[in-house]
Amino acid sequence: MTRFVIVGGGLAGAKAAETLRAEGFDGEIVLFGAEPEPPYERPPLSKGYLLGKAERESAFVHSAQWYADHNVDLRTGVTVTAIDPAAHEVTSGGSAMTYDKLLLATGASPRRIDIPGATLDGVRYLRTLPDSDRLREAFAGGRRVVVIGAGWIGLETAAAARMADCQVTVVEPQPGALYGSVGPELGRVFEDLHRSHGVEFRFGETAAEFHGDASGRVGSVLTSAGAVLPADVVVVGIGVMPNVGLASSAGLEVSNGVVTDAALRTSHPDIYAAGDVAQTFLPLLGRHVRVEHWANALNGGPAAARSMLGQQVTYDRVPYFYSDQYDLGMECSGLPEPGTYDEVVYRGDRAGLEFIAFWLSAGKLVAGMNVNVWDVTEDVQALIRSGRVLDPVRLADPAVPLAEI
Ligand SMILES: Cc1cc2nc3c(=O)[nH]c(=O)nc-3n(C[C@H](O)[C@H](O)[C@H](O)COP(=O)(O)OP(=O)(O)OC[C@H]3O[C@@H](n4cnc5c(N)ncnc54)[C@H](O)[C@@H]3O)c2cc1C
Repeated sequence: MTRFVIVGGGLAGAKAAETLRAEGFDGEIVLFGAEPEPPYERPPLSKGYLLGKAERESAFVHSAQWYADHNVDLRTGVTVTAIDPAAHEVTSGGSAMTYDKLLLATGASPRRIDIPGATLDGVRYLRTLPDSDRLREAFAGGRRVVVIGAGWIGLETAAAARMADCQVTVVEPQPGALYGSVGPELGRVFEDLHRSHGVEFRFGETAAEFHGDASGRVGSVLTSAGAVLPADVVVVGIGVMPNVGLASSAGLEVSNGVVTDAALRTSHPDIYAAGDVAQTFLPLLGRHVRVEHWANALNGGPAAARSMLGQQVTYDRVPYFYSDQYDLGMECSGLPEPGTYDEVVYRGDRAGLEFIAFWLSAGKLVAGMNVNVWDVTEDVQALIRSGRVLDPVRLADPAVPLAEI
């Protein structure tokens, strides 16, 4: 019987298994996941679940019963340690299993901080359900929290900590929040939001050392500017690294992720990659990108599954992500990194946090972010796809429907 093996029990892996069955694949599906839990979604871990407002079960992609009902051989708590592309074999727990097609959906892991005191108790990362459980406990009772990194994870964690009544300081080497992700203009919107909730920022500074207290727990953070920040908890959110170990040991092409073409095929014909680990050629942008966001796992897993089934696949979605912080909800389409745009245009009430921001390059839309404005993603993405030069005055005018610009 044909056997498809999926390595990585996250959203991309689970969605790929679901699509294989939905498309009528009746061979064997083996899904390996290193974590003890069945595949789950991570966004609630820094939002509703961390705040204690969402049930643990709501994070799971499928119920445990779903895997049995769909004859998906889910092996949780099992790490695949090697791939042999020539023999079409994966190894786990010392035993080998052959595959006909293999999907790498191994995701990413938090980048670790390497400074004195980094291993002290109370220095935390946020990637897994147990990480989120521990943070929620740590935030209980209004503690002093220092967040290292003003990216999405850092800011969402800062919001959750403030909502738990903790005192929060964020240390960030860049000149502003979310700098590399959305640039200074929109970064300021989030800085102002957090300041209005009592968060203190220290931009242009790095964490130089973590100091322990008498019990061996973290007690303070020394910054590169010489400031000593008292801390009961430190949350490190300085980005993630794609889990490429298996792929590089197996000789697959790896470059900040497992390199794939637009059909999510790696450099080996029977091996595919999707989700956070994949560095995929996106025809829309004309280059390879690694997108570390939920929607890319949600849609990339299924696209890889179709590709594994021999269907013609061109994975060409506009990158999309979202975030919730305090009462602010936003969606962003496109990748508005500094250097990719020359103008930002606003439609709506920027100060009142109800607006759409458009990043333009030579008049063409690079990206759009809707903040507390909903049901515009399709229109924004259509404008990005159109590649047309747009009139900024009409873009800024709420009286002009987006579909008519
Ligand atoms: C706290 C948090 C909040 C987030 N919030 C948002 C958000 O609001 N919006 C948004 O767009 N995105 C968000 N993201 C990003 C989003 O969750 C990721 O893009 C998504 O989880 C990627 O899914 P994945 O399946 O590719 O990888 P992962 O979720 O990393 O899953 C990969 C799985 O593979 C397992 N694995 C790795 N190697 C092996 C191996 N050798 N053998 C077996 N198993 C292996 C890993 O243990 C892991 O369980 C958030 C991420 C985090 C951590």
